[in-house]
Amino acid sequence: MYQTTAELRSAFLEFFRSNGHQVVDSSSLVPGNDPTLLFTNAGMNQFKDVFLGMDKRNYTRATTAQRCVRAGGKHNDLDNVGYTARHHTFFEMLGNFSFGDYFKEEAIRFGWTFLTETLKLPKERLCVTIYQTDDEAFEIWNKKIGVAAENIIRIGDNKGAAYASDNFWQMGDTGPCGPCTEIFYDHGDHIWGGRPGSPEEDGDRFIEIWNIVFMQYNRQASGEMLPLPKPSVDTGMGIERIAAIMQGVHSNYEIDIFRTLIAKAAEIIGVSDLTEKSLRVIADHIRSCAFLIADGVMPSNEGRGYVLRRIIRRAVRHGNKLGATEAFFYKLVPSLIAVMGDAAKGLAETQVIVEKALKAEEEQFARTLERGLGILDTALNELKGDTLDGETVFKLYDTYGFPMDLTADVCRERNIIVDEAGFEVAMAEQRSRAQAAGNFGADYNAALKIDAETAFTGYTELAGQAKVTAIYLN
Ligand code: ATP
Ligand code: MG
Ligand code: MG
Ligand code: MG
Repeated sequence: MYQTTAELRSAFLEFFRSNGHQVVDSSSLVPGNDPTLLFTNAGMNQFKDVFLGMDKRNYTRATTAQRCVRAGGKHNDLDNVGYTARHHTFFEMLGNFSFGDYFKEEAIRFGWTFLTETLKLPKERLCVTIYQTDDEAFEIWNKKIGVAAENIIRIGDNKGAAYASDNFWQMGDTGPCGPCTEIFYDHGDHIWGGRPGSPEEDGDRFIEIWNIVFMQYNRQASGEMLPLPKPSVDTGMGIERIAAIMQGVHSNYEIDIFRTLIAKAAEIIGVSDLTEKSLRVIADHIRSCAFLIADGVMPSNEGRGYVLRRIIRRAVRHGNKLGATEAFFYKLVPSLIAVMGDAAKGLAETQVIVEKALKAEEEQFARTLERGLGILDTALNELKGDTLDGETVFKLYDTYGFPMDLTADVCRERNIIVDEAGFEVAMAEQRSRAQAAGNFGADYNAALKIDAETAFTGYTELAGQAKVTAIYLN
């Protein structure tokens, strides 16, 4: 029971509907009217103004299955894809929300009841984390729910860690935020990894399944935290992670949706080894790319469109690695629509546009891909040391359409890193040459900014057009 991803989605929404929650449709991946956000990255995004008290709904409890993309901005999992069992660029977040209605105790109880009674997960496989100073959450878990004290782990803000536990949740640098409690599932000691808070926590043994956030503050650009009008609740559970547990597999990439997509990609490209890492990457990337286009993003050289272009090109490169000789990526769309069920309504309606856009982008890139890869291969073979110089990275970008992260993706497979600073110097030189020639444009600069590894700080409205602003980490 409740095994397929589709069944889980309905079971979740039904559980919360029967507990007084309004079932609300997923919002678009392009955040409506939120210039601080690159893509929808959590279920709470569409309710941001409700949490802030600036928007009122005729319900105070809601539940959603929200499509999310984390491939840029504050939450960026692009580089985790293919390397962890639990990260996607696109995933569905199941969530329940209270807008000044219930708070900590009921939120915890709902989560625990759904997991242990509806889904019947064994309690001994679960442990939880709480914010380090949140004694109230500790008391609820321990006294009211009955979780043993040693299975309640206190965690602080983990600023700067790649994907280590962090029990203070925030959607971006500003906006609603608060302490959270997270529920983890132990996949067993045959898998490497440690409990949250331990040095091995980034392994994939203990996998975070559900984050329950106690929304209490509105973080200002200055860093100041103002209290929200009413304490609220925002939760998120990745459907692929809970599906893996229910389907008795460890990796998200082994669940029904991914099995289908991986098998299809293997069939189209002609690969017999279904465990190829590149197949996982392709299966992941087709979801983010297809759903982004369905939501109106088109590959381009700036902003959201450039992030999309980068993901498509990475997927195409992985196809090439597997031996694809012609456009393959767009051919996955029909299978994607079929496996995503209810979640693919909008995609099914835009199927033709999505396939066309993917095919055009792939064919365009294919023209320079082989030559670029040849140049990269030669450079890597001749390389002394472990860093690829910025000039080569820039040449690949400028002449062959290789976004820097694509070059970095190839390099990582050979344990080489790219000289990002050198790349930026080369880029800046190019820009000043272009300026000297009186030939420069806003688009080019925006592409430059997004192309680097950046801390995304938001969009500024410029002459009615969203334009990316970003600051560099290095
Ligand atoms: P992790 O620590 O594993 O990166 P997170 O703490 O960044 O996850 P949250 O921001 O708390 O994730 O999001 C709520 C839930 O969404 C997570 O508990 C997880 O189940 C799911 N989730 C988050 N990121 C991803 C992803 N990239 N792919 C699939 N599911 C995800
Ligand atoms: Mg994360
Ligand atoms: Mg986490
Ligand atoms: Mg979390």
